[in-house]
Amino acid sequence: MLIMEKKNIDWANLGFGYVKTDKRFVSNYKNGAWDEGALISDPNVVISECAGVLQYAQTCFEGMKAYTTEDGHIVIFRPDLNGQRMEDSCRRLEMPVFPKERFVEAVCETVAANEAYVPPYGSGATLYVRPYMFGSDAVIGVSPSSEYQFRVFTTPVGPYFKGGVKPLTIRISDYDRAAPHGTGHIKAGLNYAMSLYPIMEAHRQGFDENLYLDAATRTKVEETGGANFLFVTKDNKVVTPKSGSILPSITRRSLVSVAQDYLGLEVEEREVYLDELKDFAECGLCGTAAVISPVGKINDHGKEICFPSGMDKMGPVTQKLYDTLTGIQMGRIEAPEGWIRIIK
Ligand SMILES: *Cc1c(COP(=O)(O)O)cnc(C)c1O
Repeated sequence: MLIMEKKNIDWANLGFGYVKTDKRFVSNYKNGAWDEGALISDPNVVISECAGVLQYAQTCFEGMKAYTTEDGHIVIFRPDLNGQRMEDSCRRLEMPVFPKERFVEAVCETVAANEAYVPPYGSGATLYVRPYMFGSDAVIGVSPSSEYQFRVFTTPVGPYFKGGVKPLTIRISDYDRAAPHGTGHIKAGLNYAMSLYPIMEAHRQGFDENLYLDAATRTKVEETGGANFLFVTKDNKVVTPKSGSILPSITRRSLVSVAQDYLGLEVEEREVYLDELKDFAECGLCGTAAVISPVGKINDHGKEICFPSGMDKMGPVTQKLYDTLTGIQMGRIEAPEGWIRIIK
């Protein structure tokens, strides 16, 4: 077997920033069809000054990780679900679908071409994969673009919990993230543009994240700017908010399966009211980046809700969920059929 020379990177001390890798995948949509696509070396994008993405934010994206398992394979976790979700995002934004089978192929090809940047097992670092699409030709009247680019780039990122797990302090936000029947359920760049002010304001006030409520009644828990909630009740039930304006996190859906099928826990996916928060034993945020980040405290306009799990560690059920899902991802625990896509 040919052993690929890894790049000389201090994996354990990498942050979460863009590091250019060797290859990226590009496919262009023109005259109603996607071209074959290719891996290219140029990291720059050249488009019209009047491109749909620049004028009217016609763009969506995905996020996933490639990593090395205990037995030395390079793998990705459930990329088919990212492909499906990107199809859903494209339809809602009047963008042409890049078929999910081709999406998975493009992701695998891009990771394989940047194998030297996939961090070794045990480093805690991963190769972050960013598929995205945008309207690339000129539109001045408000309308969908007629040309698009689908691209995939990769960038190595460091361990999420550097120097140990630190539970987060979050605040109830007075801003809304998503309207009922809006775009909260798709991974659109526009959902992030409007979250920048609230998140920076939260940071200025000493909070790690915003908890967004449902915009219609402001009585129910939705999610944070980039992660879904999981709660644990005092009798060890897992509860996760259900709403049409939450982004369907693949990590959260996987943790629900792990809770039920691996840990034998009861799971409720239902509306979660703000005034129930004080009764939960544990709280965590789930997303690709951290898998689960524990929440220690929620600040509701000066009134603190402190979870019994405290500010030093994950709660016991959260920890079990985290250990089991990361064990499945890293190949230490047998995965459900189809969850692990082996690249090589
Ligand atoms: C991407 C994202 C998540 C997490 O989804 P994963 O598929 O688990 O990475 C949660 N909320 C929002 C708003 C997101 O954009």
